[in-house]
Amino acid sequence: KPTLLWLRRDLRLSDHPALCAALDQGAPVIPVFILDDCAEALGAAPKWRLGLALEHFAQVLEARGSRLILRRGDALDVLRDLVRETGAGAVHWSRLYDPAAIARDKAVKSALKEDGIDAQSHAGHLLFEPWTVETKEGGYYKVYSPMWRAVKDRDVAAPLPAPKDLRAPEAWPASDDLADWRMGAAMNRGAEVCLPYQQVGEEAAQERLAWFTRESIDRYKTRRDLPGIDGTSNLSENLALGEISPAQCWHAGLRALHEGAGGAETWIKELVWREFAYHLIYHTPQIATRNWREKWDDFPWNEDGSTAEVTAWKQGRTGVPFVDAAMREMYVTGRMHNRARMIVASYLTKHLMTHWRVGQAWFDDCLTDWDIASNAMGWQWAAGSGPDASPYFRIFNPETQLEKFDPDGNFVRAWIAEGYDTPSDTALSYFDAIPRSWGLSATDSYPRPALELSEGRERALNAYQERSF
Ligand code: FAD
Repeated sequence: KPTLLWLRRDLRLSDHPALCAALDQGAPVIPVFILDDCAEALGAAPKWRLGLALEHFAQVLEARGSRLILRRGDALDVLRDLVRETGAGAVHWSRLYDPAAIARDKAVKSALKEDGIDAQSHAGHLLFEPWTVETKEGGYYKVYSPMWRAVKDRDVAAPLPAPKDLRAPEAWPASDDLADWRMGAAMNRGAEVCLPYQQVGEEAAQERLAWFTRESIDRYKTRRDLPGIDGTSNLSENLALGEISPAQCWHAGLRALHEGAGGAETWIKELVWREFAYHLIYHTPQIATRNWREKWDDFPWNEDGSTAEVTAWKQGRTGVPFVDAAMREMYVTGRMHNRARMIVASYLTKHLMTHWRVGQAWFDDCLTDWDIASNAMGWQWAAGSGPDASPYFRIFNPETQLEKFDPDGNFVRAWIAEGYDTPSDTALSYFDAIPRSWGLSATDSYPRPALELSEGRERALNAYQERSF
């Protein structure tokens, strides 16, 4: 009886506990990806990037004598169909921790068990399962630093090697054709402009990790905040899709630490921010949809994502160079530097007093490293409505931030074309990426700020004061 391996955000062969457990059953393994409602609901860029990941992983499996079976529909219905068609006796998968995935997976597990199928979920997407990290009082951590102290000396199991034999079955069930799924259909931008920025697949991720821990991690602490240089790992898209495991990153970071690399601990701490985000969404699933601190519920946010100010924010033409450069970077590359994410999120939620959900939704649509937990936490952190948030009264000044973190103007020059005699290729590529309907051109003059920074800041501070936060 074959075993089904239900793949979701674990598109790799190494350090894959669910794959190893499936193989341990001694029977042939059938890898399956299901385009269900959760996957259908992805925003334009993450869905397109998932399509690239699936295409690549299918090739990897084929080169190893296996296959990726693609099916569309309700996950339980599809798995039941496959059990019937193949006679499979077991289904294995790697756990996810957001509310929609948990609800789906619980229902699938109990229904399959009732059918007499051995349904098993496994760790792999996180370093520490959320229920294994508790405060002394027995709750979950609402503040990052004590969580870091609680986990930093824990043993993380050494990564599992990629299995040698993927045990293909003699006959394969039918598969959809990935092209028919049109995963890039909602990318109403020049996807070919974004393509070169994608680091697709396990091999590329491993190479990047090796390069980063060899060449760059040593200076991570001093360079991680500079958006104009390649000073971070760029592994978030791979971690988001499971093309690399957090344990592989953790162990590579530890090795660098033991070899004396200065920035290694700071980098490992970032991996724990990702854990923190997941533990929060597991314990407080509402973090993805509602103010984590309810006192923000009656704050007079603008909730309209189509006002002129918000549209200018999305299109990178607020007239505030740090904000605009960052928004354009995201539109072209699918990613945005962490410092820049904090700046644009602060500008939207504070200067423009716009609900963080409006920004979250735009990021949901544009980020190829989109991650439900980190995105929700990042937005609530920036808005001040989340756990361990940036103090609500701290309003980043994008001008002084730019002086501090882009002193040579590299970041702005990389992404803003207007006003330069010889704009950079990347800045020009933004105009190839955007839809024509935006009506923008590189020869336009750079927009004057619609809102003075001091005015936006005053307005937000007054609103906070009125509510006596
Ligand atoms: P590195 O600096 O090399 O860090 C290594 C890894 O640690 C990252 O790949 C990531 O997995 C994790 N990490 C780093 N910083 C954070 C953080 N602040 N929170 C959680 N995990 C972190 N990250 C996403 O992966 N997906 C998102 O959708 C996302 N949305 C965000 C939205 C906002 C408003 C903010 C402020 C942050 C968001 N982040 C998100 C977190 C962070 O910006 C990115 O993880 C980081 O920029 C990725 O770059 P890197 O891989 O080079 O990170």
